[in-house]
Amino acid sequence: MTRNKNSSKIGWNLEHSYLQLPGAFYTRLNPTPVSEPTLVLFNRPLALSLGLNPERLEGEEGAAIFSGNRLPEGAQPLAQAYAGHQFGHFTILGDGRAHVLGEQITAQGERFDIQFKGSGQTPYSRRGDGRAALGPMLREYIISEAMHGLGIPTTRGLAVVDTGEPVFRETTLPGAILTRVATSHLRVGTFEFAARTRPADELRSLADYTIQRHYPELETRENPYLGLLQEVGKKQAHLIAQWQLVGFIHGVMNTDNMALSGETMDYGPCAFMDTYNQNTVFSSIDDQGRYAYDNQPNMGAWNLARFAETLLPLLHPEQSQAEILAQDALIDYIILIQRSWLDGMSAKLGLFNVESGDGYLIDELLKIMQQHGADFTNTFLALTFDETAYNLTMSDTKEYQQWWEKWQARRARQKQSITDSQKLMRENNPAVIPRNHQVEAALEAAEKEQDFNPLHRLLAVLEKPYAHTPEQTEYATPPEATGRQYRTYCGT
Ligand code: AMP
Ligand code: MG
Repeated sequence: MTRNKNSSKIGWNLEHSYLQLPGAFYTRLNPTPVSEPTLVLFNRPLALSLGLNPERLEGEEGAAIFSGNRLPEGAQPLAQAYAGHQFGHFTILGDGRAHVLGEQITAQGERFDIQFKGSGQTPYSRRGDGRAALGPMLREYIISEAMHGLGIPTTRGLAVVDTGEPVFRETTLPGAILTRVATSHLRVGTFEFAARTRPADELRSLADYTIQRHYPELETRENPYLGLLQEVGKKQAHLIAQWQLVGFIHGVMNTDNMALSGETMDYGPCAFMDTYNQNTVFSSIDDQGRYAYDNQPNMGAWNLARFAETLLPLLHPEQSQAEILAQDALIDYIILIQRSWLDGMSAKLGLFNVESGDGYLIDELLKIMQQHGADFTNTFLALTFDETAYNLTMSDTKEYQQWWEKWQARRARQKQSITDSQKLMRENNPAVIPRNHQVEAALEAAEKEQDFNPLHRLLAVLEKPYAHTPEQTEYATPPEATGRQYRTYCGT
């Protein structure tokens, strides 16, 4: 007897631990239905890992579900309340265009928020329409999957639906909803909302909930709230160091976009850099360079300081003591991110440990790269493989050749073989990143011609950036120099 595919279960297993929080932290409400949804992207491997059945979700049923037109079994949608410092200024925010449907519990007992982005207005929409455009939702899907492929903690894309409805920005654009999966959407801004607008017991409830959800090992600590600050700092240090190591620029590291889980979240005006320049800014609204490439570690510290401030009443009954504990945690973050970056850069250069003088060796290389406008990703590929294949314009310069000699001498001093060193480099230098010109080309084909093939090809290549296979070569080519600065936009 053949089994009717529709008789098999979709596999929803939704819980709602967020509803344990005091009522001010969320508003329960359903997504706003859309007129004519089509499923344009679906992440089969992610669905399987969540215990969901792709056979049921890939077609029309998926379109109905991932548009919000038909709620998944057991869903209890809510929009979250939060605040945040946006470019340094405090604002009350909240999910203005997002709904969390619930927390999917996997067979392994892991818990993941299933969230729609672009699913209609909420009490936190302010003047926004609650909607999202197709291009930016596809872009978030591509870049977050690329991050996942690179092994960097991130929220992920489960599906993108074209809503069949227009959204009105500078021009009229097709509307879309992204289904986003995250270990949670708790952010620094959630704590800022609690600390500034809610009574002390509600802040404590939020801290207890965050510990229970992300850092349960802290529950038995003498001072679990200090532990929370330290662990969030550790995760953030590691995360931002990893961004730096692949040339990723988040672009809008406001406190409402810093997840307490340590996952990269909210892919707005983000991008990977081609040409190395430590001052690179992509976001059209970041005219001060607040979130420039080289300033990201500092902004992580700034955001962590805002988080620490919210925790002060929980850290110690005496304010002055609480401040000392908070400052120590911030210093730990600064030490950790430097360490993490140095370890990562050493591995990119095939060095198994860090010796004094290595920091200098790395800085010197970066300076030469900046001076000659070298491609960030391909410089490290050239060092890993055959230099001549990567067209490094700086190869012939005296400063580069002198640096190269020093690097060779340093490499020869370690006991591991050159073969092992090369292997380390292959594992730490990606063959491909989602280059802006390729992302744009894939988006254009999808948006203008409904041709999703380039996008699927790009996604396939980005799945295994450390594979170093021949098919990746096409995607390793930097764009032709145009003299124009690549720009990305918020408000999407
Ligand atoms: P973001 O820059 O995406 O982190 O968004 C900042 C804030 O603006 C969040 O509270 C969003 O929910 C809200 N927001 C962004 N776009 C819209 C929109 N089209 N409608 C309503 N709220 C929005
Ligand atoms: Mg945000």
